[in-house]
Parts: sequence; C-alpha cells; structure tokens
Amino acid sequence: MKKRACHRYALALLTGPLSALISLTLAVAAPANTTATDERQPGQKPEIGSLEQGMWETADKVERAAKTSGERDYDPALNHFVRSVTDKVSGPYAPDLHVYVMDRPFLNASMAPNGYTEVWTGLLLRAETEDELAFVLGHELTHFVHNHSVESYRAIKTRSDAAAAASVLLAIVASPAVSGVQAQKFVPYANNLINIVYLGAIASYFSFSRDNETEADRFSQSYLRSADYNDLAGAHLWRTLLDETQASDIKRVRESPTRSNVFGSHPLEAERITAIEAEHARLTGTKPAAYEDAAAKPARAAYRDKVRPYLGAWLKDDLRRQDYGQTLFTIKRLKRDGIDAGLLNFYAGEAYRLKARDAREKDSDARTAEIDKARQQALNDAVSAYNAALESPDAPKETSRQLGDVYRRLGRKADAISAWKAYIAANPGAADAWMIEDQITAAEKEA
Ligand SMILES: [Zn+2]
Repeated sequence: MKKRACHRYALALLTGPLSALISLTLAVAAPANTTATDERQPGQKPEIGSLEQGMWETADKVERAAKTSGERDYDPALNHFVRSVTDKVSGPYAPDLHVYVMDRPFLNASMAPNGYTEVWTGLLLRAETEDELAFVLGHELTHFVHNHSVESYRAIKTRSDAAAAASVLLAIVASPAVSGVQAQKFVPYANNLINIVYLGAIASYFSFSRDNETEADRFSQSYLRSADYNDLAGAHLWRTLLDETQASDIKRVRESPTRSNVFGSHPLEAERITAIEAEHARLTGTKPAAYEDAAAKPARAAYRDKVRPYLGAWLKDDLRRQDYGQTLFTIKRLKRDGIDAGLLNFYAGEAYRLKARDAREKDSDARTAEIDKARQQALNDAVSAYNAALESPDAPKETSRQLGDVYRRLGRKADAISAWKAYIAANPGAADAWMIEDQITAAEKEA
C-alpha cells in the first residue's frame, strides 16, 4: 500500500500539468469512508459529520487567524520560493496546500488536515540547503497524506474526556511540528511569542507516535528523491540541531534529553539519523552513505542566494530568543563557506554585545566577579566580531556605531570616538547622526 503511494506520486509528477486533473479524478474515485491510517487522495475532502470534518473546521478557523497575523511574512519573493519548494515536494498534493511563511525564530513547519501549512523563518534560517527545507516539508507532507493528526486525535479522544480533547484540537491543527517544546522552554520572557509558547505547551500534551515520526522521515526521503533532492539532507539537518542543542547558553537545555527537549513531539535520537542513512542505502541499493558536507557546498551557495535578503532580519529575530550560544552556533555554520562575512560577523558582534548586557540576568547564581569577567569577555568578543565585519564590504552600516558603543562600555574612549566618527563619515545622512555627534562631543569633553 505504501509502495503504491510512492509510485502514484512519481507518476503524477511525470504527468506535470495533468496532475491536477488526475488529483480530481482520484478524489472522486476515493472511498469516502477512509480510516485514519489510510492515505488521503489528492483533493480529498472529509466525510460530512466525520471526526476529520470537525478538525478541518477548526483548522479553517486557525488558518483565518494566521492570514491576518502580525507574524505573517508577506515578502513576495520569499513566499514564491517557499511555495515552489512545497510544490516540488508535494507533487499531486500541491493544490491541497495553502502555505504561509511566519516570522518566528524557531525551526518549525506544520501541515494541518485541511492543508493549512506554516513554514517558520527559524527553519529557513537553519536549513543550509533547499534540500533540508524540502526534507521538513516532506516530513510534514507524510503526516498530512497519512492523516496522522486524525489518528492521534482519535487516540486522545478515546483516552481522555471530551473537554481535554477539545482543548488539544487547536494545538493539533497548528501543531508546532518540530520545536513546540523548544519554544516553551527557551522563551520564558519574549512576550510576543506567548501564543506560540501556549500552543507548544498544549502540543507537547499531544504527540505523534514514534512510528508516525519514523514513517514521516522515511516517506520524506522518497518525496525528496522524486523531486531530485538529496534524500540524506534530513540526517544533516537533525545532526545540526543536535549540535545546536549542545551550544545553548542554558544548562537545562544542554542537559535535557534530546527527545523531550528540542523536538518535542518529534522524538530524535542518533538512531533517527542512522535510519535516514539506512533508508538511503535501501532506496539506492548502495551501502549506507553519510551526508557529504563538502559536496553540498554548491547547494548551500544556491540556497544562500535565495535567503540572503532576509538573513539579517532572521538573525535579529533569533537574538530575541536570548540564547546567544545557539545564535552564535548558527552564525558560525552560516560563515563556514566564507560568504556574507560582513553581515554574519556583524550579527556575531550583536550576539556578544547582548550577551554582555544580559550577563547579570542569565546566571543569577554566579558570583559578581565571574559575571564581570564574562561580561568583559563578551564585550571583547563583540569588538573582534565588529572589526572582522568591517573588513568586508557587506558589513551593515551601523557596524561602526555599535563598535563605538562597545568601546565606550569597555572604557576605551578614544577608540569609541574614532568608531563613531567613522560611522558618521560613512553615513553622513543617517537619521541618528546628530545623536552620535552629541555622543562624540560629550566624550571629548570628559576629562
Ligand atoms: Zn513529525
């Protein structure tokens, strides 16, 4: 049955423009009374009065709210790109999906039973290649095609009271796919993320089964192969996220088991990576292969060309999470091919500058002397990063200004004045030039 699904998928891809017509035919031909574990047909609608129909109605409501959400990203080029990747991966199911890009700094994507699909910018920031983005979409597509949410909802309904089931319904349709629990644990103080935190908390109550998750990874690999993507991309993405967990500033995050931590309802152990590699071997008939990082360099460059205009905004958003170890980890990965050095070093500088500012709140148990030492170190790291940024033509224009501020905090007055002067010289029309002039005057008057 599952093999047949992949075959049909490939067939529909081959027929290209006819796929919509085929979808329609299949929808008409599909049995109305499907069980939860059955695959849905392209274009399939739920049976009137069914459990699934109720889920669709809820999902429609959530989708209407998402449409006008302040976090929705309307950038036409970005939406076009994400939509095109979704279309490639989802083949005959593409017409069923309505894709929304959301400005939220966590690795996440979701696909509700009615086709309402969210892709968060935190995923777009962390994916290194189009293949990795496609992998997550393929994973979600599997939950969608195989009605995993209906299956899970039915399970929760049978083991809990109706009120509890109703309260998790909302979470199911907008279920944080990869990092709901991450959102819950990592952002106790970012007000504008409270809704996500809330949804994450509820979603953690509800989870796809381990089998569903394994199946989602496995089917995603088939979808990737059909669309000419690298089907090992998922292994690389999961490995990166394991490493990002270890790079966290927060001890609790680093020490908590991966399974209940970063991925919430998406259990992740090293064996999930191994499973992807084994499936690759099975699909290709070769021996188990590992993802070749060097070979993916052109794919990384191509993906970077797509996301470059948004990198600054996404990194700025990521800093709102106040986990500078993780942001710096992401920046280091983005820097490794030597592109966008000005922008990336600038944001490394920002991470260190904010880390110094937050040093006191972050580690309340630490002794004052240790805090001062850590803050001093972070300020010095910020200086190095801003100066590294200034060596590249793509350094943001505010780099010298920020550098001046950090020098001042380090008590390096002459360096601060010279950095601020460089800022004004390079940006004579800047709206804040008068303010920086004032700072220079004030600093020069100090004894
Ligand atoms: Zn999943």
